[in-house]
Amino acid sequence: MRGLVYDKALAFRDDLPEPTPGEGECVIAVRLAGICATDHQITKGYAGFRGVLGHEWVGTVVSGSNRWLGKRVVCEINCVCRTCDLCRTGLSTHCRNRTVMGIVGRDGCFADLVAAPEMNLHEVPETLSDEEAVFAEPLAAAYQVMQQVRVDERTKVSVVGSGRLGLLVAQVLAKCGCALEVIGRNANTLAFCEKRGIQPRSVKDLSLRKDRDVVVECTGSPEGLELAMGLVRPRGTIVLKSTYAEGGVGTLSPVVVDEVTVVGSRCGPFSEALASLARRDVEVRSMVSRVFGLEKGLEAFEASADRGTIKVLLNIGR
Ligand SMILES: [Zn+2]
Repeated sequence: MRGLVYDKALAFRDDLPEPTPGEGECVIAVRLAGICATDHQITKGYAGFRGVLGHEWVGTVVSGSNRWLGKRVVCEINCVCRTCDLCRTGLSTHCRNRTVMGIVGRDGCFADLVAAPEMNLHEVPETLSDEEAVFAEPLAAAYQVMQQVRVDERTKVSVVGSGRLGLLVAQVLAKCGCALEVIGRNANTLAFCEKRGIQPRSVKDLSLRKDRDVVVECTGSPEGLELAMGLVRPRGTIVLKSTYAEGGVGTLSPVVVDEVTVVGSRCGPFSEALASLARRDVEVRSMVSRVFGLEKGLEAFEASADRGTIKVLLNIGR
C-alpha cells in the first residue's frame, strides 16, 4: 500500500505492507487526512517517531467486527491498555502503556490503510462531509481547553496564534461569550476571525500589559510562550497547546514571579467535537486551503508549512 513514512526524512512509498490488526482492532481505509503542526514537529525530531505519520483523519472500516464494518469513522489517537493505574483512575489518555497513532509507537493515517482499536472509533453523522469530519481530532483538542479552565462572560482571554488550531480554539471560546481576541501575524487568518465576529489583533500592534485572565498559546513556537507570559495577568492562566521539537520553553521565571498557572493541554472529547460540527457551531470548511493526493504528500507538507495556508488535507481513498 501507499503511505508517507518518516524515518530520518519524510518519504512517499508505495511498497508498504498492509497493517495487521491486533486484538480488538479493525482496519480502516483512510478517505481524507489533515496535516497538523505536530506532524511538522515530528519531522524535526519531536517524539523520536519512525513510521507512517498522521493522526487527523476520516475513513471507512474495511475489516473488523460487524458493529463497525462499512461505517464511516473518525478515531481517537491514544491507544490505551485499560489496565494500568492511570487507565483505572480515569486518566486513560495518559495510559502508561499507550501508543499514539502517528506519534508514539504506532503507524498513523497518511496511508491507504490504518489499524486502530475499535473502542477508539466514533461513527460520523451522515450530515457531515469528509471535509468537516476530518476536523474532529483538532476540534476535540480545542474543546479540551474548556474542560481545563473556567471561562465566562467576564473572563479576558487571548488566543496567541491564528493558525489551524488557534482558529478552532478561538471559535470554541467565542461560544461562551468571553472577552476574546486572537493575536496573530497572518492577515488571512486574522480576517477569518473578523468574519466570525472574533476580535483580531496583529502581533505588531500589541502592547504587553499583563492583563489577560487566560492566554491560550497555539503558535507551535517557543516565542509564543514568551508572548503569552507578556500578556497574562499575575495569577492568571496560560494554556499551552504547542509541542516543540526543541526544549525551547525559554525562561520560566516569570511563571514563578507572577504566580502564573501553566496548563498543558492535549487531546479532547471527540463526541463533543462531532456534535459541534453537526450543529455547524464552528466554521471549518473555509479553513481548508489546499487538498493534495497522497502521492503528492511531500508537496502537501511544504504547502502546509507556508504561513499563507490554513489547513492542508490529503485526499487518500476517495
Ligand atoms: Zn493504561
